[in-house]
Amino acid sequence: MTDYREADFARLKTVPIARRSNKVDSSLLAHPPGPDRSFAAFWGALPAILAAQDLKYVVDRIALAAGRRAIVAMLGGHVIKVGLGPLLIELMRRKAVTHVAMNGSAAIHDFELAAFGATSEDVAAGLGDGTFGMAEETGNEMNAALARGAGGQQGAGEALAEYLRARRELPGRDVSVLVACAQLGVPVTVHAAVGAEIIHQHPTADGATIGANASTVCDDCPRQRNIKKITAFRRIQDVNNLDPEICLLEQGIPCNGPATRQGCGALCPQAGAQCIGCYGPADGVIDYGARLIAALASVIDSNDPEEIDRIIDGIPDLAGQFYRFNLAGSLLGAAKPAWNGN
Ligand code: SF4
Ligand code: SF4
Repeated sequence: MTDYREADFARLKTVPIARRSNKVDSSLLAHPPGPDRSFAAFWGALPAILAAQDLKYVVDRIALAAGRRAIVAMLGGHVIKVGLGPLLIELMRRKAVTHVAMNGSAAIHDFELAAFGATSEDVAAGLGDGTFGMAEETGNEMNAALARGAGGQQGAGEALAEYLRARRELPGRDVSVLVACAQLGVPVTVHAAVGAEIIHQHPTADGATIGANASTVCDDCPRQRNIKKITAFRRIQDVNNLDPEICLLEQGIPCNGPATRQGCGALCPQAGAQCIGCYGPADGVIDYGARLIAALASVIDSNDPEEIDRIIDGIPDLAGQFYRFNLAGSLLGAAKPAWNGN
């Protein structure tokens, strides 16, 4: 016996297949190219669905635009490490690619191929013995090239490409996308993840080169300040009428910009989100939280200390807000012995 009724499948609705819209029919299927061994026959034999269809579409659009419009190839590290760099170089030569935008991983793999003739370490083994990402020459040379380029107002792509082109020994000269960009005059940009690339964990990495400057995020932020005073702090996800022009702090959104090191170009406030301080304390900031308290207090519309305390207490996670990235460097640690009565 059971207290539950069994599902009655007879009551389910079915539909005639003629009324259903279908994504695949026999005209779209792959077909064997037959005795024709040409690449064109292979290409024509591919199915006209999903990835093969997407590939054909992209190829058609590039062919249509080649020589007439700018075509940007955007790539990650795998394009280089699985060996497609020489094909990209050929596309650049044929002017089918007019700009290369690569991530940090692609730049590192390409640099190593060019300068040392080999790349792609065994990640699992390197993580096991602590050597992952620690190839000495890669860190030294790339960081030196980037620092030199930054001094001359070059971006990372141009700096690395020019460094490689001038390097005396270059075993991978013919297969390097960076070198080809320098030789062919194709602009190349490198979009690194700040602090997350393997060369950023080397002793030669320089924060100022990577993008850190001396002042604060507020100095790069285009939002207007000294417009509003606030009577409460709010969580950004609870606000649906934020003014896109006015400082977030002055709209009651706790923004860490006033204490955070300049260098990212105020990415988050420009995109409508508060700075959470990932660049760390700005120059001269002794305690990040203390500097932020001062900044938060300056926008509060009250002179009454108790009222100011109450409004600041409205920030849900004060310790997280202030010390998400820099608790170890805060004065809280220094004060611990005092709390213990020492
Ligand atoms: S506090 Fe935030 S929103 Fe306001 S100016 Fe500084 S970075 Fe921009
Ligand atoms: S959170 Fe980081 S990236 Fe965003 S604005 Fe602040 S420092 Fe810049």
